[in-house]
Amino acid sequence: MSRRLHAPDDEDKPFIARWNVLVRILLVESSVKAVARSAMDFADFDDGSSCHPSNERIERETGLSERTVRTAWQVLRGLGMAERVGFGSPHRKLADEYQLVIPPWWQNLPIYGPHVRKFTCLYCQKLITPQGNCTVKVDGDRQKVSFEVHRMAFCPTPRATKGRVALDCLTEWNESQRQRGDPVWHEFGDDRWKLFRQARADEW
Ligand SMILES: [Zn+2]
Repeated sequence: MSRRLHAPDDEDKPFIARWNVLVRILLVESSVKAVARSAMDFADFDDGSSCHPSNERIERETGLSERTVRTAWQVLRGLGMAERVGFGSPHRKLADEYQLVIPPWWQNLPIYGPHVRKFTCLYCQKLITPQGNCTVKVDGDRQKVSFEVHRMAFCPTPRATKGRVALDCLTEWNESQRQRGDPVWHEFGDDRWKLFRQARADEW
């Protein structure tokens, strides 16, 4: 049995411990997780304030490209995990200042359960490692983060082999839904998160 993690909003724990749990369980691009971890090294451990590393510094410490680091910050802002509280000025070598935040809606983010268990494919019931992913769209000062939830609830698409049709579990599942007259994946809308929780089977 794996030990249950403490919750990211467990006020008995210092901010840094709660932040690190949230980053551990997040199912997003690994670069976002790396930047989130690195950012904490520069913030106040007690409340996540005063975080102003330059992107160059984060680049050096994570080994990611500048563009990837920039995108990761956009994702963190879009998720409500970072608030920009001060704008830097590049010509004076001043970086933007961030407040790191555990958003009150953390339970609605794509996250592992408290035991970080594998998920169960909704079609074939195999245990799978969900494929964390995210895409961010920037509109002015707003960031909208979206997820391909099916990559966390079904086996990954098998590679096509010559002369054999490789059917993936999502396609098979859609077909069985159709046969029963039930909605297919893309018709679920926000209810896809219910299916995500079903695949996770490990509630906070
Ligand atoms: Zn499967």
